[in-house]
Amino acid sequence: MEFGLIERIRARVAPRDDVVLGIGDDAALLQPPPGAQLAVATDTLNVGVHFPPGTAAADIGWKALAVNLSDLAAMGAEPAWCTLSLSLPEPDPSWLDGFLDGFLDLAARHRIALVGGDTTRGPLSVCVTVHGLVAPGRALRRDGAVAGDDIWVSGGLGDAAAALALLQAADEPVVVACEAGPLLAADPDGGSGRLASLRPRLDRPTPRVELGLQLAGMAHAAIDISDGLIADLGHICQASRLAADVEVDRLPCSPALAASFEAERRRELQATGGDDYELCFTAAPAMRERIEALATGVVPVTRVGRMVEGEGVRAVDGDGAPWQPRQSGYVHFSG
Ligand code: ADP
Ligand code: MG
Repeated sequence: MEFGLIERIRARVAPRDDVVLGIGDDAALLQPPPGAQLAVATDTLNVGVHFPPGTAAADIGWKALAVNLSDLAAMGAEPAWCTLSLSLPEPDPSWLDGFLDGFLDLAARHRIALVGGDTTRGPLSVCVTVHGLVAPGRALRRDGAVAGDDIWVSGGLGDAAAALALLQAADEPVVVACEAGPLLAADPDGGSGRLASLRPRLDRPTPRVELGLQLAGMAHAAIDISDGLIADLGHICQASRLAADVEVDRLPCSPALAASFEAERRRELQATGGDDYELCFTAAPAMRERIEALATGVVPVTRVGRMVEGEGVRAVDGDGAPWQPRQSGYVHFSG
């Protein structure tokens, strides 16, 4: 049964010149270009933790690859190859076909080749490992921020957590605690229209690969926002031994989010909601114009704060008063 599934996968993967040997042998053989460094990242998606049960197979396929490509984006690496470990409750070819529709659609957009994996029986779980290429010294690390750097974020923040909050408020049978953020109070006036506009950001995040490549060798530090801006920026602070001052009123907000929640709840979603997969990066103020120019036509970028001496992330509101979220980022196994 596994062989049938593997053959189904193999028949659909796109070739790449540097894949000497792909799916079918004991290991893949890959030919990195001379001098390149390999950037390797892996992320697992489990049903009920990283996506609600009942999520469409194609959306699971898309998201499993997207969260991994987001890690390569945050390193400034160019996607090259990936492997896929699938645990399935039963060998369901039509589920697999749907999964591959989403997975391979995103793979084609970034010309990343699926070169191997593993297929087993068990609770639904998807583990992807990605391999990217980056020139030595150009990778965007968490430990490179410098005091005085601007802090930037891409795209909009809070949409994915907002979608999850609306899902939970809609009292669907699929409601679970999800990585996208804390449970929020139920919405008084329903919200199916708003959910329809926000949900794609939860189910089909856009990894900011192009932006990461443009920033490589220019930004000082970067991370992708999977657990909420405050939590993830905290990792840059820790690795770089610095503090971050963030103005919550500057956080970029999509029109759909602005139309869906009042200001305070929106701020909380933007500052602490997970699953957006935007990039947060730091760069010298002298780079402002170059960064705005390189982001044009790729994804909007917004300056939201500054790296300073000290430790931890300090958020302030528009009046400069300290702003405190109720919870800063999703913590696995917290209860
Ligand atoms: P092995 O016994 O060596 O683990 P498998 O039967 O697990 O071999 O896999 C056979 C081939 O199919 C290998 O090349 C493996 O990388 C590939 N493969 C298995 N499962 C997947 C998958 N889910 N996605 C991509 N390739 C897979
Ligand atoms: Mg195997």
